Amino acid sequence: MEGLFSFLLFAGLFYFMMRHGCGAHMAHGHHEEKNINDSFVDPVCGRKVGDDQGYGKLQDGHLYRFCSKDCLDTFDLEPERFIKERNTNAEKSTEKTNEP
Ligand SMILES: [Zn+2]
Repeated sequence: MEGLFSFLLFAGLFYFMMRHGCGAHMAHGHHEEKNINDSFVDPVCGRKVGDDQGYGKLQDGHLYRFCSKDCLDTFDLEPERFIKERNTNAEKSTEKTNEP
């Protein structure tokens, strides 16, 4: 009977660790990943904009989000300018067929 008791204790401790130790870390990591996907950086002012905040615009297959209508309008005037600034050390594929 004592063996069963220590087994249950061990199982309970294991469950507790999964819940509040590794399990919590896993849940936290998943949550963080979701946050990255849900937030955009306003290319005009550099602010972080949530998925359900501000204004969105699809440009060259990329979705950009803006904190305000002003930033969206500024971007709309010269989209290339902000896209270039954003992609200087990332990808340089936005320069193709951008001009009419
Ligand atoms: Zn902005």
